[in-house]
Amino acid sequence: MLDLDLSPEQLQLQETVRDFAQRELAPRIPELDRAHRPDPELFAKLASLGLPGVCTPQRYGGVGLDWVALGLACEELEYVDASCRTALSVHAGLCMTGCYQWGSEEQRQRLLRPLAEGRHQGCFALTEPDAGSDVRALRTTARREGDAYRLRGQKVWISMGHSAEILLTFATVDPAAGVRGITAFAVERSLAGLGLRTQPIGDKYGLRASETAIVYLDDALVPASNRIGEEGEGFKVAMSCLDSGRLCVASGAAGTIRACLDLSVAYARERRVQDQPIGRFELVQQMIGQMARDRDIARLLWLRAAWLKNRGRRSTRESALAKWVNTDSARRCADDCLQVHGATGFSEECQAARYLRNSRATLIYEGTRELQTVLAGEYALGYREDRPIRCPLPAWPDEGEPAPTAGPPAGAGG
Ligand SMILES: Cc1cc2nc3c(=O)[nH]c(=O)nc-3n(C[C@H](O)[C@H](O)[C@H](O)COP(=O)(O)OP(=O)(O)OC[C@H]3O[C@@H](n4cnc5c(N)ncnc54)[C@H](O)[C@@H]3O)c2cc1C
Repeated sequence: MLDLDLSPEQLQLQETVRDFAQRELAPRIPELDRAHRPDPELFAKLASLGLPGVCTPQRYGGVGLDWVALGLACEELEYVDASCRTALSVHAGLCMTGCYQWGSEEQRQRLLRPLAEGRHQGCFALTEPDAGSDVRALRTTARREGDAYRLRGQKVWISMGHSAEILLTFATVDPAAGVRGITAFAVERSLAGLGLRTQPIGDKYGLRASETAIVYLDDALVPASNRIGEEGEGFKVAMSCLDSGRLCVASGAAGTIRACLDLSVAYARERRVQDQPIGRFELVQQMIGQMARDRDIARLLWLRAAWLKNRGRRSTRESALAKWVNTDSARRCADDCLQVHGATGFSEECQAARYLRNSRATLIYEGTRELQTVLAGEYALGYREDRPIRCPLPAWPDEGEPAPTAGPPAGAGG
């Protein structure tokens, strides 16, 4: 059964986040972006809406909605700026998926609950100076010492890496074992001691209002009870986190596309050349028509991935495809949006330039455009096939819990 209607709860969440993002985030973004300054209160604001745990079961402190709800939130946040969506998707898509899908019951209560309730912010520390697309090349080591591990190495380009309390970090327990040595750890900043240092990266091309950091692990202390999954399961943990993270990036990109379309339509109706609105010129219509096409494709692609996840089914191919197509479209739409605006678009007064810069980041992180292309090709050629995932995520409504009644999550509208 295919149903593209949103439920009353999803519609209400969409409206709440849209209203909040327009009212609370949009007015400050241009200034923060120009100053390369993340909003220090962004996560607390998202938490006041219940967004960190929007698709986490209520028994782990979440709101108990579903992956469509998380996607809608990402789309509305990125309609304003991709930095706002990045904060949510790194937390809920990447970090929390690892702790939920691969964590023990005890870890879900101890580590996941504060993340879902928005008391702790999470990030995902996989990339290293010499290990980006090739995760197998990671060099950070984890050495067992009694009932703890010592992590040593360096992570780079870690979104929210400077402010997160929980850093879902990947290290190898046996460098000779290759991918079979990679292991996941929930590094708690407050427990890691002086062995954990983080340093923000300034001067970025885009996503300037998003925090990105270098993470130095110098024998950082991690209790063995914070190992997520078994030793050697880290690669699988990372890949399943990326299935969720890419869904968030894809739904966010749908927000950029919609923003570019709305901005372009408004300008094309108003701006007059040769005594007529530029919207009357066929070449301008072509750019806007393509944006309308991309908006619908983007929405359908991320909804399909979310639909699979809501049923506890694997979405590796569908999340990657949605991420690839939608981020590519967002970049093209932002470029065309700037073009529709002529010289006005070339000014920082117009949001198109910011959308364009931000869209470049989404072609790089959570697997570059090229890697998503290769993945799609390998699936099509039959070189890659998926086995069922361990610990499938629950279908909505949460098993054993009543469906949430209409009404925004606690604190909505704040
Ligand atoms: C703003 C931003 C935020 C980020 N946030 C995070 C985060 O929160 N956590 C995290 O762990 N990482 C994060 N990253 C890092 C990001 O995931 C990596 O940059 C990305 O995986 C690419 O790795 P790389 O930069 O080392 O590029 P490389 O892997 O060196 O790739 C360089 C080029 O070679 C191409 N290439 C590489 N391998 C292949 C191949 N097999 N086939 C075809 N082409 C190939 C790539 O597509 C790319 O064009 C972030 C990056 C940015 C820019």
